Amino acid sequence: MLTAHLPSGYLLARGLPRTIPALLPVALVGAVFPDLDMIWFHLVDDRAFHHHRYWVHIPAFWLTVAAITLPLAALLGHVRTTAVFFAAILLHLILDSIGGGILWAAPVNDHLYTLVTVPATHGHWVTNFILHWTFLAELAIWLAALTLWWQRRKVAA
Ligand SMILES: [Zn+2]
Repeated sequence: MLTAHLPSGYLLARGLPRTIPALLPVALVGAVFPDLDMIWFHLVDDRAFHHHRYWVHIPAFWLTVAAITLPLAALLGHVRTTAVFFAAILLHLILDSIGGGILWAAPVNDHLYTLVTVPATHGHWVTNFILHWTFLAELAIWLAALTLWWQRRKVAA
């Protein structure tokens, strides 16, 4: 997924009870957090590996972190907010699975599981994704998020 992680976090937050502390910022940060590996991907590894192979894109890593963090958060009274973060991470990984591939079975195997393979039929990989039908999912997420945001804005005014 190229562009719709941030609005997907907004949609996630809109679907949850507003009583959860820090709901929107946590959902937004969690929805984009795995792609922070792009910094390492570009600046350190010189794009040598698919960035979905970094630990922040591996479900088993987040499962382990959640198994450790959620009980601690429960003890501290922050379990709902922490759960929102992990839900946003999971949403990110699911959306990346549409055309990008995720290591869902790691460490059992190193296969990038993807719902649809986006063929390299155009010059640049970004063009391949934008001109592929799966990009309609990104547009739909943006449209839904902007519509809900606009409706809430009108109600608040
Ligand atoms: Zn990603």
